[in-house]
Amino acid sequence: MFIRQDSPQPQAPVRVAPQPQPKVETEAKLAPVSDQYEPSLPMNESVSGPMGASFQEGFVEGYLTPSEIEVRVNSLAEEFPNLLEVIDTGIDSHGYDGKNPDIQGPEDLVYLRLGPKDSDRDSKVGIFQYAAPHARERVNPMTMMELTEQLLRNYDPESTDPAIQANTELLDDLDVFVAINTNPDGHNFSAFDEPMWRKNRKPLGNGEYGVDINRNYPYQWEVSDKPASQTFSGAGPASEPETQALLHVVDKHPNIKFVVDWHSYGEEIRRPMGTSAEDNQFYDKMHGRVDSAIKAVAGNDYETVVSQVTKGSSDDHFYHVDNIFSTVMETGEEFIPPENEALVVMQESVAGAREFLEVAQDYAEDTGRA
Ligand SMILES: [Zn+2]
Repeated sequence: MFIRQDSPQPQAPVRVAPQPQPKVETEAKLAPVSDQYEPSLPMNESVSGPMGASFQEGFVEGYLTPSEIEVRVNSLAEEFPNLLEVIDTGIDSHGYDGKNPDIQGPEDLVYLRLGPKDSDRDSKVGIFQYAAPHARERVNPMTMMELTEQLLRNYDPESTDPAIQANTELLDDLDVFVAINTNPDGHNFSAFDEPMWRKNRKPLGNGEYGVDINRNYPYQWEVSDKPASQTFSGAGPASEPETQALLHVVDKHPNIKFVVDWHSYGEEIRRPMGTSAEDNQFYDKMHGRVDSAIKAVAGNDYETVVSQVTKGSSDDHFYHVDNIFSTVMETGEEFIPPENEALVVMQESVAGAREFLEVAQDYAEDTGRA
């Protein structure tokens, strides 16, 4: 179970800033071991103590299962009680029904709220990034997990490191929401049963399962009579708990002005159809910045395009119904690349996700909202 928002806080010592692990000097690690060798610094001390510690990354080292994500999130919530809330939407999934006996049944659909629990956080510009409504697109939960850990572990108002200062200001200036795993049943089914599973695990009768969450949004939802289809849109608009949970986050927090829905694959940054001329200028700038941030990691040049999905998709819904700058990302070149490639896609995506936060921060400054 996830730790719910209304659970008593764990008795961990209260602290706002993380205490980064002392950095072990690279030369010390790589130096040949000999009786004569003495490192120039004691192994467990950095040059100037935690205040001078440099930016930390690389927390996620491979694919994660939903249970592994849950464990990591719960332990972060204990470690950072003043910076992380795990919020239960109160909506449960249909339930995993595959061959792993240990994880049968429904899951709580939860999301994270990151940043200091200031009284004015509801009036800050909100940004919501989430991963894997499509189960097999398994790099993206890694990205959301790594982003979450980086944001929390590099938050330190006392730091003199510019990268840590910038990270700290993101959480101070914005209301940051993340959902690491928005289709846990499908994700489990991809991890333990059929790797290429895409939909949720809604039983449809006649041996068919699953609704496509990204065809289940109310805006221009279209009836579909093929339950076996990979893009089956469900019994009605927002019929699915996973869709309802995502809509719930945006309804509950009207300060959310940006949504980023992380998908794979295609190396594309997609805006909704039918955006206004003024908003197109904003999208050009925003997606150009994200493209550059991604390219800086490994040289891959993502394309900025208009989404061609026309019925019941998240980007159209959030833009046209909620007046939100919504984006669909299509990361990498495969649904489940080999792990070494997945880690590169993850690094690119974290850079992109961080750039979205910086765009939102600039937007907050420009519009006078803080
Ligand atoms: Zn997708």
